Amino acid sequence: MTQRVLMGNEAIGRGIVECGCSVATSYPGTPASEILEAVVAFSRETGHPMHVEWSVNEKVAYEVALAASYTGKRAAVSMKQVGLNVASDPFMRSAYLGVKGGFLLVSADDPGPHSSQTEQDSRFFAMFAKIPVLDPASPREAKEMVPLAFELSEAYELPVMLRPTTRVCHARQAVPLLTPEWEARTARFEKDPKRWCATPRFVLDLHRGLTKKLDRLAADPRLTPAFFPGDGTLARTCIIASGVAFAHTWDVLDELGMAGKVDRYQVKVPYPLSADFIERVHAEYERVLVVEETYPVIEMQLADRRIAGRISRLVPNEGELTPEVIRAVLVNFLGLPPSPSTASARPAGARPTLCAGCGHRAAFYAISQTFPRGIFPGDIGCYTLGMNLEAVDTVHCMGAGISQAAGFYHAYAQGGGEFPTIVATIGDSTFFHSGIPALVNAASQKARIIVVILDNATTAMTGHQPTPQLGRTASGEESRPVFIRDLVRASGVSFLKEADSYDVEAFSGLLRDADRYCRSADGGVAVIIASSPCVLADSGPTRTPQAVRITEDCTGCRECLDMFECPALVWDEGTGRVGISQAACHQCGVCLVVCPTQAIVAES
Ligand code: SF4
Ligand code: SF4
Repeated sequence: MTQRVLMGNEAIGRGIVECGCSVATSYPGTPASEILEAVVAFSRETGHPMHVEWSVNEKVAYEVALAASYTGKRAAVSMKQVGLNVASDPFMRSAYLGVKGGFLLVSADDPGPHSSQTEQDSRFFAMFAKIPVLDPASPREAKEMVPLAFELSEAYELPVMLRPTTRVCHARQAVPLLTPEWEARTARFEKDPKRWCATPRFVLDLHRGLTKKLDRLAADPRLTPAFFPGDGTLARTCIIASGVAFAHTWDVLDELGMAGKVDRYQVKVPYPLSADFIERVHAEYERVLVVEETYPVIEMQLADRRIAGRISRLVPNEGELTPEVIRAVLVNFLGLPPSPSTASARPAGARPTLCAGCGHRAAFYAISQTFPRGIFPGDIGCYTLGMNLEAVDTVHCMGAGISQAAGFYHAYAQGGGEFPTIVATIGDSTFFHSGIPALVNAASQKARIIVVILDNATTAMTGHQPTPQLGRTASGEESRPVFIRDLVRASGVSFLKEADSYDVEAFSGLLRDADRYCRSADGGVAVIIASSPCVLADSGPTRTPQAVRITEDCTGCRECLDMFECPALVWDEGTGRVGISQAACHQCGVCLVVCPTQAIVAES
């Protein structure tokens, strides 16, 4: 059998293709982004025909894949955990209505969190919706769980969730490659209004049906946790773990010399927990430790006050379960002498910043300099880093910047009060994701706000996936471009300007025009589209390069470092002045306007 070293996300993508999936959808988000990219690559490599799409958001992605499953074909949707919040509406109802063709939901969690606004546990969401969830401990196991998920989904006509965590998504491991299943299925949607259009009077029956399915599923032998018996040294004691916490727990038990001395269980399906397993734990053990990320999903189902875990606070309730954290938990639970910590303190490191030459920096600099007393709601993307330039005051969730800007306006302006200049910033991909309804709402509610759409012609933070404006699909085929300017106009916005943010003075003038419009008698939402292609994208900067140098006039005031923060500007301890790293400089020329003593000059 052929094996290949794959990243966890690639292994999942390969599994999706091997299972003969017909439709795969996603919205990019770390740690899940590479799954759909792998589906594209493996469907091409194996010649397995599929429809693969980057949808505009997770809700749309979920609904597209779900309808494909209604036709009897296999479908998969992948997203990061907070994406499931966006898709929660179709997700919750899909449990009741069920599916036809196997339907796989991959929701990748981010304990830590490393790149998310929460460290929520998607397994909890599965329990909330009443659907089964699989919790892999490694890339290989993640791939093995994909066919199991499709089989369970078709056997019980339910969506099935696969919940990898960052450490599984991004780890690499040799995994076996199988030949894709070529079972040709013809799309056939069987009309059944009581089910597919279920009005409230049918929902109760559907809910009863769902409960019955779950009862049957919980007794399915494929869901029984794997048992690793101890040698009896620690009688009536067991350790239960799932996901990557299982792998770490076993490793640490080995290091502590305790692996063979205590009964251990690996739970691969944390919900619904096997009914036999729950009974067995209650009957056979007096001391039980549960190690799982990130919420007490297994622990709650065991519902036993004797259990040590997150509810008893033996396991920390927040943060990633690293081997160091698990070691401390095991030492405590097993009553071992405390061992010296092997954890090394993480060096503080420099704070993340926008890339040298990034057009967003110029836009943020202009915003904060033009409106020093403004309020700046921001959004999710690499441009969140506008907070370093004091041009982003709030970041909540995808698309919230425009809604929050409107909320600030209404709070200040209520009863005819004075309102500050409010500038929301949002990226192009986020605008398509959930900025459009917020803009329609702000315009129709007569909010007097400025919205700057930072259009860098890609979804930069998650790996440069295309946006609808680019006219290119996930597979690289040409498609019909959807232009941001047309959407803005259709949202009821009359002030719309397109600008080059690199020209800070002109951009600043445009911001002042927008502010005047907001405050005019018939003012409302003013939108500026600031276009500057991502410096890391293939297209690169489209402007004439402008080399710069720093003269002897530099006083070392650090204004350019603290308020502008281009990584190509570097402090020189020897001279007590700033220098330019020519290797990092993109020659955007924007820093020319930053220095109060004009020590940054154009290289002639
Ligand atoms: S280059 Fe200008 S802004 Fe930067 S430290 Fe020197 S004097 Fe200050
Ligand atoms: S020209 Fe100035 S702002 Fe632009 S990348 Fe170089 S140092 Fe940074």
